[in-house]
Order: sequence, then C-alpha cells, then structure tokens
Amino acid sequence: MELMQRITEPILGFEVDLFNFNEALIFVHQHLKANRGLHIVTINPEMISMGNKNQEFGRILNEADLSIPDGVGIKLALKIKGINQENIPGIEFAKKLIGLCSLEGYAIGLVGAKEEIIQKAAENLRKEFENLNITYIHNGYFDANQEEIIKEEIKNIEPKVVFVAMGAPKQEIFISKLKEQMPHTVFIGVGGSFDVWSGKTKRAPEFYRKMGLEWFYRAIKEPSRFRRIFPALPLFLVRVIMETVHENWVKIR
Ligand code: UDP
Repeated sequence: MELMQRITEPILGFEVDLFNFNEALIFVHQHLKANRGLHIVTINPEMISMGNKNQEFGRILNEADLSIPDGVGIKLALKIKGINQENIPGIEFAKKLIGLCSLEGYAIGLVGAKEEIIQKAAENLRKEFENLNITYIHNGYFDANQEEIIKEEIKNIEPKVVFVAMGAPKQEIFISKLKEQMPHTVFIGVGGSFDVWSGKTKRAPEFYRKMGLEWFYRAIKEPSRFRRIFPALPLFLVRVIMETVHENWVKIR
C-alpha cells in the first residue's frame, strides 16, 4: 500500500503538517494498518517557542512524524504565510483515534495525569467505546527509576497506540525515548485530555471552540496558564511575520 505523503510548512524552524482532520486520521490509519510506528505531536505556538529555546525539545519536534496544527495560533501563523489551514484540536483528534482503535481492535495504552483522573478517564472511555481494549494504564507522576520500569512494561505489552498526557515538553521527551525501541507503535502527546475525559475539567463552550479560542478560555479560567501563554502568542505572531517578510524579500532579490 502506498502511504500518504506529508505536506508541511515550516514555522520558525518547525515543520507543521497541512493535512485537514480527516486526512491526518487517514495518514495515521494507514500507518497502523502497515504496522508502522509514528510520533504525533499536536503543535502550538508555546511548543515552538519552547523548541527554539530548548535544543533537545527542538530536535524531538523536528523528528516527529506528524505535527498537527492545534489551535488558532498556528492557524494564524499559516494564514500570514498565505495558507488556509483547518485547526485540528488535539483532544478531538485523539478521541477519534481512540474510536478508530476500538473499531479495529487495536490495543491502547494511557500514560499521564493523576491516578484517580486516569482511572476515571479510562472508565469513561470504556463506557463510550464498547470494544475498547486498554492494555496499559499508568499515572503521569513518577521518578527516573519508575520511568524505566514503566517503559519496560509498555515495551512488553506493546499497545498499538500509546496516549501520553503529561503536558509539553515532558510527554514528548518521554515518547522520544520509547519510540526508538518501539518502531511499530503510534505515540501521541495529548496534554490535559485525560482531565477532560475524566470529567474533572470541562472543555470550553462551543463558541470558543468554534473560534479556535479554547486556549483563551482555559487561560482565563487558570490565571497561571494565562501568564504562561498570553505574552507568548503576540510575540510568536510578530516573529512569524518577520520570518515571512524575510522569506519574501529573499525570493524577490
Ligand atoms: N502531568 C503529568 N505529570 C507531570 C505533570 C503533568 O501527568 O509531571 C499531567 C497533568 O496532571 C495534566 C497534564 O499532564 O493532566 C498537563 O496538562 P496541561 O493542561 O498542563 O497540558 P497542555 O494541554 O497545556 O499541554
């Protein structure tokens, strides 16, 4: 089977995939059927800024096999570059992927969040998807020694897809170390998704989601998140504008 080819656009040094939601899902499905592993990243401006500052994280982002544009920041950055891109909320993509796994009978693993949260999220997912086969569950709070044990366990159980919810860059660093030893597994970092699936955190109202402003809603609800995200977004867009002007200037010279 011929696998779909990625179409990407660099933003401040990081490739972002231009698939729409369905295409991205088909891309992943093809890899699952072909028994090929993937590292899926749901990329946002914060992660790009982190990748510019932290070399290891930057390398991991560049080695990802699929960088899904998650949120209005990336959508706007692509718009500046003249590209109309559909926003793909990572949490929705992950949920669709779980649905696909339950349909196809692929075993999944869940790593991340607090113990009671992940247990409740797993329970809710099992209710939602009747045939879902969750073969590995672990919370996201562990030290270096426990991490080695967890990795060994995941390697032995070898779920087809592993969802890691520890926030960036922790989840991506965890995945990057495991994926080298698990070439047939699909990994995806899903941030705070388990909190939402457990029912502990509510997603933003429809209006914010439609506008791609879920991050903004969450930032208002959590002041610490606001301080983390807010100054970064305008700065990020200014940098994208400067990069685009520079690229166009080089082209016309
Ligand atoms: N988390 C974790 N281990 C840690 C730190 C965080 O499992 O050492 C979990 C945390 O409980 C939450 C998620 O990671 O469920 C982080 O969510 P956040 O909303 O901060 O991530 P984002 O969506 O912003 O990437």
